[in-house]
Amino acid sequence: MPPAVRHAVDAFQRYVCDRYSHRAAWLDSRKLIQAVADALAVRVGGGPPIDPRSVAKSLSIDVRFRNGSPDKSCGELIPVHGGFRASVVGGDSVGERLRTRFTVAHECGHSLFFRCDERRVSWRIVPRQVVDRRSIQREEGLCDAFAGALLVPADLLAGRIPAHPRLTSLLAAASYFAVAPEVVARRVLHECQMWPGTVVYQVLLGRSPLTVRAFRGVSRRSADAKAPSALALAGIVRGNTRMAVVEAFKKAFPGVGEAKAYATSTLWLML
Ligand SMILES: [Zn+2]
Repeated sequence: MPPAVRHAVDAFQRYVCDRYSHRAAWLDSRKLIQAVADALAVRVGGGPPIDPRSVAKSLSIDVRFRNGSPDKSCGELIPVHGGFRASVVGGDSVGERLRTRFTVAHECGHSLFFRCDERRVSWRIVPRQVVDRRSIQREEGLCDAFAGALLVPADLLAGRIPAHPRLTSLLAAASYFAVAPEVVARRVLHECQMWPGTVVYQVLLGRSPLTVRAFRGVSRRSADAKAPSALALAGIVRGNTRMAVVEAFKKAFPGVGEAKAYATSTLWLML
């Protein structure tokens, strides 16, 4: 492992252990795990697109793909002698390949909750929480944040995303980084805060009622006032087809909204 990566991992693990022993909130953990991602992306990831398998290799993770449905779990990381084995649900379609890349990166994140001793045995730096839902979600959220930062490094993203919000740039960046558009949306709007005041919606068609997720830029009162919540938008644009949804959206927000199709059953909207 390159020294800069080791240094970032140590800082993250020291912080987590300290917070755990003091029973304190993990306020800086997201920033610190993303600093590990930054160090790895530059030194090990190659690309773009970043190769999460070479990152996994540098973290002593042997990645194996299996068939199966990702509904229950997309992957799992098992400590073995000298490192880890990651079992990840594979697949050949474009969507499955993007999901698989993200899962491999996510499992790399879990390995940062382990240390390896001189007998090459991996042990967890804080106990695994099996009943405390909030702790489980906290680790899962950190691994997702790590995966996003690893696959979509902030400095490379800055070169791909113009100041003026456009859905076209968001979707183009997703294909450049070989990730699903929601990964870029989270990076651009939530984490890197590149489009303040903008709200981007992901609409999954073919379900009843429509499933809508909202990605909000830095929350500003003006933005909140003009853009409805995900649930409210689902009520406004309800329709069976892509065309019906786009029409309802344009009618509700004349002249301000942008709509773009992605894959067969997803629509992206922006306000
Ligand atoms: Zn996980």
